[in-house]
Amino acid sequence: MSTGTAAHASKALQDEFNPFLSMAKGFDTAADHLKLDGGIRDVLRMPNRELTVNLPVLMDDGRVKVFTGYRVQHNTLRGPAKGGIRFAPEVNLDEVRALSAWMTWKCSVVNVPFGGGKGGVICDPREMSKNELERLTRRYTVAIMDILGPDRDVPAPDMNTNEQTMAWIMDTYSMHMRRTTTAVVTGKPLNIGGSKGRKEATGRGVMITANEALKMAGLRPEDTRVVVQGAGNVGGLGALLMHREGYRVVSLSDMYGFIHNPQGLDVPAVLAHLGSTKRLEGYREADYQATTPGKVPQLELDCELLVPAATENQITSLNADRIKARVIVEGANGPTTGVASDILDGRGIIVVPDILANAGGVTVSYFEWVQDRMGYFWTEEIVNSRLEQIMVQSFGAVRATAEQYGVSLRTGAYILAIDRVASVYKMRGLSA
Ligand code: NAD
Repeated sequence: MSTGTAAHASKALQDEFNPFLSMAKGFDTAADHLKLDGGIRDVLRMPNRELTVNLPVLMDDGRVKVFTGYRVQHNTLRGPAKGGIRFAPEVNLDEVRALSAWMTWKCSVVNVPFGGGKGGVICDPREMSKNELERLTRRYTVAIMDILGPDRDVPAPDMNTNEQTMAWIMDTYSMHMRRTTTAVVTGKPLNIGGSKGRKEATGRGVMITANEALKMAGLRPEDTRVVVQGAGNVGGLGALLMHREGYRVVSLSDMYGFIHNPQGLDVPAVLAHLGSTKRLEGYREADYQATTPGKVPQLELDCELLVPAATENQITSLNADRIKARVIVEGANGPTTGVASDILDGRGIIVVPDILANAGGVTVSYFEWVQDRMGYFWTEEIVNSRLEQIMVQSFGAVRATAEQYGVSLRTGAYILAIDRVASVYKMRGLSA
């Protein structure tokens, strides 16, 4: 390869791996189908507001370290911004922008009255103590407080943040407001305004949409081998629920490697092992393969259903033609690049896109916000049955839109979502 060609190839790969460009590609395709006017297109494509904050934090050894964090509000036309906060070394503004836009489309697909937001802090939580994480979280909360609030922007957990993180945010916000304000975040512990069923909600939504996609493919859960990438909130709990539903989960991974047993994994036993050792490695009833940088062989295993539920850019132009699954349900946000998405469509693989597949989390976050504001809490049965109703209805609406326009489920989901936001924009008009 000449130097020029290599540079061109690497620029093409860089663009392919830029999550904001991936999101913009999905957006533009759908906007073309909707024949969206140029002005509205520009408004809906770019985030409304981007805040960058530098956070001095006292470390346990007495040093002060400065961390950089972001909060991006992509769009608030349909309601307060909604979206998680992630703590990770790879966090960057383009990623947070893309994730905030996906939240706008996701809330719209499931028709909950929120816009889209996302936050992140560049840090490595594995190298930080609990006290350091608490100080970082509280400082980040204060730094973005002017744009937070139950009617403005309502964060939730994402990668490497959890119920405890949300409790710290809620407490910091409440102390500054001089009143307990539970509805400022979702994904809280149950005893401080959390909702029953929230922890499992994203995994449950993944299972519900998998059930619907299987019907399209003419498969039954008991005939379906599942490979799940990631064993955290979405992947681990999604695998557990699918296992209970009769699916044969044959592989699970964490960031260190993956386990595989073609006969099926005893998912509760795997999760118990993971809970006690913090790694999948060492689980006896399956083969183990450690992660090699830049390669994801787990995704190419024999299976009917693949659930990428770890992170972005896992199915790419480098491996999309080797995926064996007939159905892919995107538990993670942005696991498939735009280029790979076209390859999968060309191969006739049914892909349930992230903005539908993982929307169970934001749906129950919406229930949590409603319950906090009512001060009246629902039973788990009510939460789960309302979640199921919304996910099945939304899947049906996306499928019908895809059929109407003759496009993939991904483009159908974007068309449905963008059309709903654009119609609100047209009705509200431009404020001064
Ligand atoms: P988590 O931190 O609970 O779990 C992430 C899992 O992925 C862990 O098992 C980790 O070891 C593994 N992992 C990380 N990098 C990996 C890699 N390169 N290869 C294989 N495994 C890897 O996070 P989560 O909350 O489960 O989120 C996972 C994805 O789902 C993210 O894309 C997140 O944005 C998305 N998501 C989460 C929710 C939610 O409610 N938690 C809702 C919607 C979407």
